[in-house]
Amino acid sequence: MKKKMEKLLISACLIGSDVKYDGGNNRLPSDVLNKLKEKYELVSFCPEVGGGLSIPRNPSEQRGSKVFMDDGREVTNEFLSGARKALTICQNQGIRIALLKERSPSCGVHQIYDGNFNHNKIDGQGVTAELLIKNGIKCFSEEEIDTIL
Ligand code: SF4
Repeated sequence: MKKKMEKLLISACLIGSDVKYDGGNNRLPSDVLNKLKEKYELVSFCPEVGGGLSIPRNPSEQRGSKVFMDDGREVTNEFLSGARKALTICQNQGIRIALLKERSPSCGVHQIYDGNFNHNKIDGQGVTAELLIKNGIKCFSEEEIDTIL
């Protein structure tokens, strides 16, 4: 009998879904995506859209435990809602690993922007990455994809 493939939660923009704030995506190169598909069953999700935000939308950055759009609107609740949905997907589907887009205020695994919308990066995690990690899901950014291939 064929062995069941492990499932991998993946930021939807990394597989080419146009869910970014500007309506674009961060599609990985086709050969990389093919390698991922050979090894994992991909479960894609965008926590910002899942949390109720539109496409396109203003860019957001974290400030402490809160999240704001660049026009000052607070969107912490939407980000938390998307993060909880991502965790529920993992828990319901037995997903133990996630591949997430670095530097996103939702998906960043090692780095985020500093909250001033001036392109300054700081060490930190996006809202979803933080919740997943706290709950034992191993999170990798697309920049360390070799680790899981
Ligand atoms: Fe991609 Fe995550 Fe941003 Fe959605 S929230 S566009 S999945 S980086």
